Amino acid sequence: MKTIRCNDFGFTCPFVARDETEEGVIEKITAHGQAVHKKEVGKMMEGVSEEEAMYMMKSKIQEE
Ligand SMILES: [Zn+2]
Repeated sequence: MKTIRCNDFGFTCPFVARDETEEGVIEKITAHGQAVHKKEVGKMMEGVSEEEAMYMMKSKIQEE
């Protein structure tokens, strides 16, 4: 199972995205970010390309 923790992005938030695939877990953390931390995520992603954002998220994936 792959996981990404929301607090790894600097949020004080207990959300953990879990999925069988990298694509799935990235999709879930992205959806959570848009739903709950839209303003902060927008600020964080300023000047960041989609490739860089993807790389950043992939680097946070953990295997459980
Ligand atoms: Zn969160």
